[in-house]
Amino acid sequence: MSFSKLGLSAPILKAVSELGYRQPTDIQKQAIPIILSGRDLMAAAQTGTGKTASFVLPILEKLSAEGELRGRSIRALILTPTRELAVQVEVNIAQYAKYLNLSSLAVYGGVDSQAQKERLEKGVDILVATPGRLLDMAYQRALFFDDLEILVLDEADRMLDMGFINDLNKIIDRLPGHRQSLLFSATLTDDVRYLADTVYDDAAEITISPHKKAAPKINQWLITVDKDQKSALLSYFIIEQQWDQALIFVEKKHSAAKLVEQLGKRGIVADSIHSGRSQAVREKILADFKAGNLRFLIATGIAARGIDIDGLSRVVNYDLPYPAEDYIHRIGRTGRAGASGEAISFVSKDDFKNLCAIESLLGKVIQRKEVDAFPVRKIVPISILNYRPKHLK
Ligand code: AMP
Repeated sequence: MSFSKLGLSAPILKAVSELGYRQPTDIQKQAIPIILSGRDLMAAAQTGTGKTASFVLPILEKLSAEGELRGRSIRALILTPTRELAVQVEVNIAQYAKYLNLSSLAVYGGVDSQAQKERLEKGVDILVATPGRLLDMAYQRALFFDDLEILVLDEADRMLDMGFINDLNKIIDRLPGHRQSLLFSATLTDDVRYLADTVYDDAAEITISPHKKAAPKINQWLITVDKDQKSALLSYFIIEQQWDQALIFVEKKHSAAKLVEQLGKRGIVADSIHSGRSQAVREKILADFKAGNLRFLIATGIAARGIDIDGLSRVVNYDLPYPAEDYIHRIGRTGRAGASGEAISFVSKDDFKNLCAIESLLGKVIQRKEVDAFPVRKIVPISILNYRPKHLK
């Protein structure tokens, strides 16, 4: 079965196809027609089954068909248990809505709310939010729910496990009765069903068995390294560990050119894409990389946006990105559609603030590995999760 049979329009099909999705996953086959028909839905599906697209694609279809956006209003609300998931869902929405004129935003706690409030002023078509921050925003009248058409509770079981039930009830109380409601949960426990009863009366129900995964298996780890040793360390990995391929992210365009040169001195052929190179050159290099003719591609974050390579086995953060959300964008380039992938970060003492922000966003400390040949002079401390460095406030 192909996506075109599901009732989605051309701009959505184009975005999905560009992401390399060849056919819908089980949950997508089942959920998309139900959601398009306007029915409420309760779905048992785990992360990795393609569940995000199963609700985002039909929501995009519905919102793009009609309706308008008023200031401080939202048309679809997706509630998630964690910041990490909120960011990830919003990243997905932006990818799927690439050819549509719909706006999306993620709001979550732990960061200053002013910028989020400003973004809400014009209204947002699809808001992804964690419950606590959403309530804060509602209390501050930064948004109102009168125009809400669709509610999604994503990972409902986790939201309950994390003690969000009171917040969820307060939110649900404020929503208009005329709306479509969708609930996704890894398991449909009694508590989840009880919550579902407060959300809707008669929902369609589907269950997707967990072994049918499209899950990205991204093995994330980091290595601490002195800044002046990074290029030597990269060469070491490429040569000693016989890396087949890597997409390597650097922060500045001059570092991209410099790294190509440093690798070249050690006999490693690499090329770079950044804003200083013409579009035609970038496309040619990218095509070579995708075809496997170029094995090591160095890219700045901006140039790499939208790079989509089937089967990319490895992403390296030669520098850590700022803002932290870019880390999730970057590592999402590997491990797509069920393939396994590796995301490795080279962290020097200068990167510590960015590391704290990334690990806080992930809600966990990334596994560290060491290489005996590269002892570190400037130790990188272990992050304090939820630490907000001053420059990120
Ligand atoms: P999710 O279950 O929403 O977390 O999705 C898991 C992963 O599967 C994400 O990396 C998606 O980009 C990817 N994905 C979702 N739908 C498809 C599809 N139809 N074909 C290939 N990959 C997909």
